[in-house]
Amino acid sequence: MTCGADAARHSELSEVPPSLGPMTATLGIEPVTETVPGPAPDDAQAPRRPSLSPSRAADFKTCPLLYRFRTIDRLPERKSLAAVRGTLVHSVLERLYDLPAAQRTVEAAQDLLAPAWAELREEPGVADLFAVAQDDGAETDANAPESVDAWLASAGKLVDKYFTLEDPTRIQPDGREELVEVTLPDGLLLRGFVDRLDVAPSGALRVVDYKTGAVPREAFEGKALFQMKFYALVLWRTRGVVAAQLKLLYLKDGDALTYAPDEEELVRFERTLQAIWAAIERAVATGDFRPNKTRLCDWCDHQALCPAWGGTPPPFPAEAAAAAGWQTVLPVVETD
Ligand code: SF4
Repeated sequence: MTCGADAARHSELSEVPPSLGPMTATLGIEPVTETVPGPAPDDAQAPRRPSLSPSRAADFKTCPLLYRFRTIDRLPERKSLAAVRGTLVHSVLERLYDLPAAQRTVEAAQDLLAPAWAELREEPGVADLFAVAQDDGAETDANAPESVDAWLASAGKLVDKYFTLEDPTRIQPDGREELVEVTLPDGLLLRGFVDRLDVAPSGALRVVDYKTGAVPREAFEGKALFQMKFYALVLWRTRGVVAAQLKLLYLKDGDALTYAPDEEELVRFERTLQAIWAAIERAVATGDFRPNKTRLCDWCDHQALCPAWGGTPPPFPAEAAAAAGWQTVLPVVETD
């Protein structure tokens, strides 16, 4: 499935609206580490009924079977050091804005790492990542164990880098880790969590997302912007305002990608989401979720169950799907 609305170009990168203050409008092009997008904060609070989030839409576009495994079967997946570091850095940046503006210094942000880590390490599977520490502390693989100190230091560098991109003493967010959702006229429920939402005195909206990976290559910019356009669409439909700026902050490279959507584009994007949703509903109704074998399979936890890799998926969990509100005509399969 293609997403025409995602065909972003460098020339489309916007200049900064003055009403939203100084921002970076540069774009460095360096290789990006691709991963199958993991379960995201979008799933942190269960929706009332089947819904579409940016992550799950991306799953279906990447591989319909991956979508099924994650969303319908809800199969467990391993955590990775890279993903947990991302969660930690997001937590620090969220807490940073709890402080009075003048106190949002690099040192204060570094001080927030320890308490954020203390909470995070209590989550299932996190401490296990460090069960075997390496002497040199080098991270050679997203799932390779390394020393906690080295890993925390790498998170600290990302936090430091944030301060090269923005001056948090000059920003007063309107929302952080904010749930945004809307039901479209056709019944499709869109929902997701925005890292940060800024509102200028003029009412102009800026949507900010922190990325702990590298700036994407040009071919992957559209993928990065897909998530941001999703948020822009939901905000437009709920607040009646088209976001003046979508801003992705790449903390590894210390670079930013900014984009200004317009109404026509969001209308097209809405149609794209409706088409994705229609394809998902068809797949649920028939239980036909095709695998799509790509390089991203290297990061998929479900190869053993995937026909593209010689595996056999479990029977479609029709009962669980129906209980979750999906329309499915498939008979319930007894597994015992
Ligand atoms: S291994 Fe590849 S094709 Fe199979 S479910 Fe995972 S992403 Fe899809």
